[in-house]
Amino acid sequence: MTSEPPPFPPPFLPYGRQTIEDDDVAAVAEALRADFLTTGPTVEAFETAFKRKVGAEHAIAVANGTATLHLAMLALEIGEGDVCIAPSVTFLATANCARYVGAEVVFADVDPTSGLMTPETLAQALARAGDRRVKAVLPVHLRGDVCDLPALRAMAQAAGAVLVEDAPHALGSIATFDGVAHPVGDGAYSAFASFSFHPVKTMATGEGGMLTTNDAGLAARARSLRGHGMVRPPGSDPWWYEMPEIGFNYRLPDVLCALGLSQLAKLDRFVARRRALTARYAARLADLSPIVRLASSPAWSNPALHLLTVLIDFEGAATSRRAVVERLKTAGIGSQVHYIPVHRQPYYVNRYGPLDLPGADAWYDRCLTLPLYPTMADGDVDRVVDALAEALGR
Ligand SMILES: *Cc1c(COP(=O)(O)O)cnc(C)c1O
Repeated sequence: MTSEPPPFPPPFLPYGRQTIEDDDVAAVAEALRADFLTTGPTVEAFETAFKRKVGAEHAIAVANGTATLHLAMLALEIGEGDVCIAPSVTFLATANCARYVGAEVVFADVDPTSGLMTPETLAQALARAGDRRVKAVLPVHLRGDVCDLPALRAMAQAAGAVLVEDAPHALGSIATFDGVAHPVGDGAYSAFASFSFHPVKTMATGEGGMLTTNDAGLAARARSLRGHGMVRPPGSDPWWYEMPEIGFNYRLPDVLCALGLSQLAKLDRFVARRRALTARYAARLADLSPIVRLASSPAWSNPALHLLTVLIDFEGAATSRRAVVERLKTAGIGSQVHYIPVHRQPYYVNRYGPLDLPGADAWYDRCLTLPLYPTMADGDVDRVVDALAEALGR
């Protein structure tokens, strides 16, 4: 410990950021000096380590999280005339992947206190889908809290659809259903789970993503579609490849897989630190209740939060979100809104007309994401909460 005074002004705290350490840099440097920059041995090593970590039978490393969702749609043979159900409170990619393959999106509302798709909001969306063919339901484990997977799967199955978990927020989260603890991504309830390693997520490769599944056929399809749809039939000539169907170049390079392997080895430490910081936030934010509340967490969910999102009664505090965001920024604190409801995006309004999803709108009106990442100090949490209290005139 040093007794130097803290730097002034104190460093800016973004809402999220990567944790890259010397051994991560060394792992990338080693991969750069090796024989393969792209399709090399580290890709499979990363996939193997990842599937073991989340308890899935197959893992496919992909160029980014959006591409994992696109591959899931393709592998499931979803296309024109089909419908996918996505929550409105999510990143654009959850809905867009259905459009990439020509399917239509029916937006599900969310619980206004957790931001999650629920059995009730899925039932409403299924009713709005009418007699159209629903092929996939895409629950998003918003912030890191896990959706009610058994109930959602039962409803999807009854409608002839599968679950595709959009899980980039929930790497390291655990959900307990019927007394069994499930790491997110173990594939117990879904056809696929999708992850992203964008720098703000729980572990980073820059761009990068991973699909997990327990279905060998789906895994093989996703794998071949990741590489142009090329396959090498067993026993064929050494130069031979065939393209039975058209695919994409969605590979994740060896160099980034080396970073992914190195980051994955630290996941438990990152998750433990996120949990400790979350606990400190919960204790400190209690002083600002009921104007500020943490987003609610379902009973079955033990999240490794990716986003520390609070719900603020801006009207009750006689202010606006814009004013609070600007005051926080002046105090050196980043914040973000997760998310603008996707059904409000001009592209979707043009396509489907205006939609009334009151839970998504209520969530949007109050949500604000505060800084959360493993290298934050305990004192940084205090700084954020003090600045928030001041911004709200408390
Ligand atoms: C980050 C994210 C994605 C997309 O991941 P990229 O790697 O940025 O393409 C998709 N869905 C959700 C919910 C995300 O948070």
